[in-house]
Amino acid sequence: MINYKTAEEVELIRQSCLLVGDTIAEVAKLIKPGATTLQLDTASEKFIRDNGAVPSFKNYRGFPYASCISVNDAVVHGFPTNNILKEGDVISVDIGVFKNGYHGDSAYTFAIGNVNDDVKQLMRVTKESLYKGIEKAIAGNRVGDIAFAVQEHTERKHGYGVVRELVGHGLGKDLHEDPQVPNYGKRGSGTKLKEGVVIAIEPMINMGKKDVVNDTDGWTVRTKDGKPSAHYEHTVCVKKDKADILSSFTSIEAAEKANENLCSDYY
Ligand code: MG
Ligand code: MG
Repeated sequence: MINYKTAEEVELIRQSCLLVGDTIAEVAKLIKPGATTLQLDTASEKFIRDNGAVPSFKNYRGFPYASCISVNDAVVHGFPTNNILKEGDVISVDIGVFKNGYHGDSAYTFAIGNVNDDVKQLMRVTKESLYKGIEKAIAGNRVGDIAFAVQEHTERKHGYGVVRELVGHGLGKDLHEDPQVPNYGKRGSGTKLKEGVVIAIEPMINMGKKDVVNDTDGWTVRTKDGKPSAHYEHTVCVKKDKADILSSFTSIEAAEKANENLCSDYY
């Protein structure tokens, strides 16, 4: 069942989403060789709580951290660890916050230092595919139109693997609501989109094959072939002519550019 959101609800979700963006930006400032993802997680939780919100992921189905931080072959749901980050690492940071009764959800992928051109292309194409999906998030279209647009750009055009096991989702009072929003599918198929549908669109794109495996930590999802993966996510509200993007990469991209440890010449 889809919970169509009122204009007031959409504004509350936007507030939560903007806090997610600012939190990911705070994390971006701290990424450097020698840092650990556990340090990034601790900083994210402090920032979220200092801003009067609660980390949505903490204790969600038993997940013990505020952030999912997925390094290199980790696709999503990465467990923060004491492992040391190093030059060349690809780090996706996925964060949700709960404030004033509504969740916000967004994710962004960073790379440390001078990464290979194939990694830069993976990041660029994955980010582009997110916006191609968002273009289709308009009233009258179907979920399959978003899915097709993402798959077309990543899998068919660039030969990347689109993860099948994990999908985008509706959100609002709950972190995961209907409808599911896959990153693969047929044009014109699936749930019809109407104004007021709020969904998180989140391409999870593998440089190699689409297959993933579950880590023994019980959470981290990794590529089966060990190649890197990228993940970008926006929460959007379906509108008549153009989706309203409720989350923002503005502060994240500014932090990415300002941090000399991060690669920012890929898009
Ligand atoms: Mg997310
Ligand atoms: Mg999500």
